[in-house]
Amino acid sequence: MQPQLSDFVSNASCMDDYDPNAMSVTQARHYIQQFLSPVSETETIVLKESLGRVLAVPVISGMNVPGYNNSAMDGFAFRHAEAGNPLKVIGTAFAGIPFTSDIPAGCCIKIMTGAVIPPIVDTVMMQEHTSIEGELVTLVKLPAIGTNIRLTGEDIAVGQTVLTLGHRIEPADMGLLASLGIGEIEVYRRLKVAFFSTGDELVSIGKPLQQGQIYDSNRYSLWGLLQAIGVSVTDLGNVADDPATLEKILLEASENYDVVITSGGVSVGEADFMKQLLAKHGQVLFWKINMKPGRPLAYGKIGAAHYFGLPGNPVSAMVTFYQFVQEALKTMMGAANLTPPSFQVECVNAIKKATGRTEFQRGILFKEGETWKVKTTGEQGSGILSSMSRANCFIVLNEQTGALDAGKMVEVQPFHGVC
Ligand code: AMP
Ligand code: MG
Repeated sequence: MQPQLSDFVSNASCMDDYDPNAMSVTQARHYIQQFLSPVSETETIVLKESLGRVLAVPVISGMNVPGYNNSAMDGFAFRHAEAGNPLKVIGTAFAGIPFTSDIPAGCCIKIMTGAVIPPIVDTVMMQEHTSIEGELVTLVKLPAIGTNIRLTGEDIAVGQTVLTLGHRIEPADMGLLASLGIGEIEVYRRLKVAFFSTGDELVSIGKPLQQGQIYDSNRYSLWGLLQAIGVSVTDLGNVADDPATLEKILLEASENYDVVITSGGVSVGEADFMKQLLAKHGQVLFWKINMKPGRPLAYGKIGAAHYFGLPGNPVSAMVTFYQFVQEALKTMMGAANLTPPSFQVECVNAIKKATGRTEFQRGILFKEGETWKVKTTGEQGSGILSSMSRANCFIVLNEQTGALDAGKMVEVQPFHGVC
């Protein structure tokens, strides 16, 4: 049975295995997933608009690809049984211009790559393996019957499912769909995501900084992260730690967007407005995650909108986004493939770490000779945003892992890549 968010909010201590103050990364992901489902509305879009969109219905091929037997080579097409003797070349088949006349016994045709194979021949010999004298061609080395013929439907057969439900469209898929003559597809509508930053110290770029103020960077990293995922993004600005303003913006956002993300204001010891507001208007869980960086995280619902409260710290905000929000958004977008790829490589430097927490250190994957390796970005403080900018991956170190000597294998999770 699907658990209710309200049970966790009101009755947390009765839940097995649920401790909001010591939540593992895996548990937190698992809890969030239980409350998510894909958007229900779909829309039909043209192929050129489809990059990054998620299929709401599988694509079934209405045709064979290739649609006819055709030549894989420039060469000569002939009957295998006759290949022992020199063959007379009586014409040429071009791609797009089939050879339609009869091919009498002892004859063959010249054929170009992609040209239709006349039904009367069964093999193609590449030009380089023949010798030609006048009209006669001799096969230097006899290939097996059927060689160099691409068969009807060998890539895709009629009725075959070519792309499954939840598939995210990549450039190759666009070509594949075009090869099937498909110009429109049905996808989930775009997820609408809004975010704002909280904090009296924050100033938008373009204004001078006063003593004690900082530029609001989270809105820009979040903007980029959300754009990369392919949701519809709305930036609601930065909001001072003022309860009335926060309340107004939060409520408006929850009515107009599928997902509302805030950064800042959810840590312990904050001016506690966000927590009170979220408790008043929504069902929100506040967690301390057993991870570094990015310990506080809030997840819940305000009305129909899903809510994520990220830590204000710029590195922590990005790490929690990558580790929790990205996967959740993909689920709501209807995407079937959620897990970002990770793999093991050698880390060339020693790593400082204590056991007990999962750490997402910033790493740089680089090529040494022929081998990809990783190094850390150095200082791993959670306020050092330049470490995220220099990095191209996380080095994921689980709770059991302690300090590591240089040269050990570590798990890396690239920021971008194959997923
Ligand atoms: P908070 O989570 O609100 O306690 O913020 C933690 C730290 O992150 C503080 O040093 C904040 O000044 C900083 N911070 C919060 N929000 C942002 C933001 N939008 N951009 C840059 N730094 C921020
Ligand atoms: Mg704050």
